[in-house]
Amino acid sequence: MSRYYQPEIETASREEIVRIQNEKIVRQVRHVYDNVAYYRNLMDKKGVKPEDIKSIDDIKKLPFLSKDDLREAYPYGLLGTDLKNCVRIQSTSGTTGKRVVAFYTQHDIDLWEECCARAIVAAGGSNEDVCQVCYGYGLFTGGPGLNGGSHKVGCLTLPMSSGNTERQIQFMMDLGSTILCCTPSYAAYIGESLAERGYKPEDNKLKAGIFGAEPWTEEMRRSIEKSLGIKAYDIYGLTETSGPGVAFECEEQRGMHINEDHFYAEIIDPETGEVLPEGSKGELVFTSLDKEAFPLLRYRTRDICILSREKCSCGRTHVRMSKPLGRSDDMLIIRGVNVFPSQIETVLLNEGYTPNYQIIVDRVNNSDTLDINVELSPEQFSDKVGDNQRREIQLGEAMRTMLGIKPVIHLVPPKTVVRSEGKAVRVIDKRKLHD
Ligand code: ADP
Ligand code: ZN
Repeated sequence: MSRYYQPEIETASREEIVRIQNEKIVRQVRHVYDNVAYYRNLMDKKGVKPEDIKSIDDIKKLPFLSKDDLREAYPYGLLGTDLKNCVRIQSTSGTTGKRVVAFYTQHDIDLWEECCARAIVAAGGSNEDVCQVCYGYGLFTGGPGLNGGSHKVGCLTLPMSSGNTERQIQFMMDLGSTILCCTPSYAAYIGESLAERGYKPEDNKLKAGIFGAEPWTEEMRRSIEKSLGIKAYDIYGLTETSGPGVAFECEEQRGMHINEDHFYAEIIDPETGEVLPEGSKGELVFTSLDKEAFPLLRYRTRDICILSREKCSCGRTHVRMSKPLGRSDDMLIIRGVNVFPSQIETVLLNEGYTPNYQIIVDRVNNSDTLDINVELSPEQFSDKVGDNQRREIQLGEAMRTMLGIKPVIHLVPPKTVVRSEGKAVRVIDKRKLHD
């Protein structure tokens, strides 16, 4: 069984990929310059003309776009074609509170769904699979993207959307779902709910999960794989570039292949904007090479990650991105120390705790405080209560080693941390409320 959806392009030689990118970028820059006044102004200000872009290497000459630009140009300012050619909008889930509206022509939808189809096939999907999509449907890109990809692959598609876990489980068991698509936090919740109903991992027919849209750790992956009895694949994307499927994992599970025939990736220093060499950690920047309606050039994602061109055993030749460490705007600065929620998750799962936690940051007497509510599993809970103080101290120490600062740990009873059906809200930063 082929594990590629479009083998010619997914395993194309490096020269072939560069040839495609060279051809597309010249056309795309011309398209944007002619149709998007907002970006034309940025290029004019920088003194760059479309004829200066002769190959993909020349991309460095182009100005960046940021989320602020998107806000300024909202809603129609970055549109690359007449509205009459557009057939759909999608919008961000608003994790960082800033609305982005993206537009699609039918061509754009097709290429997006093809990218999602590549991800599903890489996870072992074929027309024999039953694909349960419980990402949210509607404005959020998760549901529509995977739904379209699943159709292209020919899976029997269950357009569940998120929520109503009881019904998710019933359909999963009755219809024998083999592939599950949702956020990792919802996958963990479904796993937990199955166990509560007395199901063992081998009782379901699932073989793979395609989980993304939020940061998750390797520890979280292992925990989900165990609870559902599956192999869990990561998928990445953002509304600005189309949605999920910009990059996806293969069976190697070591980084996500970026669909380089559609999206050109760069890593930059977020402070200086300088392009960094392969292997450096920095901010991911994407150029969509052939989207018509919302053709962003050099869009700064704020996601921090590393690119690798190391050969992959799956045979795909497209560059791989590491799991984003978190977004630069997710990063907490607590008493001057940079803290990512993903670091906290790693420690918790390594120390044998559940992935149900909440981080509370506050400022008391001009000093930042960091508290973490950590839910105990029912087994941990029924242990001697007297042990909790020792556990809190131990976990606090493990956190200090990882983070460089020591949080106050509160172990809380099972089922007291609210579960997420979409993107999890891990952090409550009360400092913002005071300003
Ligand atoms: P919002 O900004 O409202 O969350 P999107 O739904 O478009 O809007 O989310 C895109 C963002 O979600 C990405 O920029 C990234 O930060 C995060 N994301 C998406 N997929 C992943 C993933 N697999 N791992 C970590 N973060 C991810
Ligand atoms: Zn691979």
